[in-house]
Amino acid sequence: MAKPNAEQSMLLNELRDFVLEVMREMPEWVGANVELLSTIQLGVLRKNATQRHGVTRWRRGVDVNDLKPGDVDVIDLHPELLVSEWKAYSAFVLHHEYIHAFGLRAHDSSFRSLEASWPGSKAGQQGIKFTEALRRKRASWLWCCSKCGREYPRQKPSNGGYRCRTCDMKLIDRKITTLT
Ligand SMILES: [Zn+2]
Ligand SMILES: [Zn+2]
Repeated sequence: MAKPNAEQSMLLNELRDFVLEVMREMPEWVGANVELLSTIQLGVLRKNATQRHGVTRWRRGVDVNDLKPGDVDVIDLHPELLVSEWKAYSAFVLHHEYIHAFGLRAHDSSFRSLEASWPGSKAGQQGIKFTEALRRKRASWLWCCSKCGREYPRQKPSNGGYRCRTCDMKLIDRKITTLT
């Protein structure tokens, strides 16, 4: 979607080299031409994306029943992934997109088992945390639970319409004031 700047391009290249290095050692990828992945262009998603952390975009007119890495136009990753804090998760996300690049379009059971074979597969659990961190960054409101103290950072007030996921209490809005 957005064009990466010089620093992002450098970080994306580093990440790709790391992921390919790991994939070359994974028994699951023996027999696949992993080197083809290195030709895929990497880009960044728009900064305001929260739910999508990576996307594989295909060239127009490719045969959807015979997709291969050469048919990928670009793989976009969330720009906020490109910091050391999210290094493990960003590698997991790029590996996820590389599975798509080999023609597995759906998140079916064979996709999920390949995804889970990533040596840092615990990193996948960081996805929810990453979404929350993105939300917190852009939030103007906190929906607060008066019972358990949980806070849900959001862009809009809840206006009494939401309940705590943990204890089902009606959430109370608090405006976030930024001190400058
Ligand atoms: Zn996917
Ligand atoms: Zn609660």
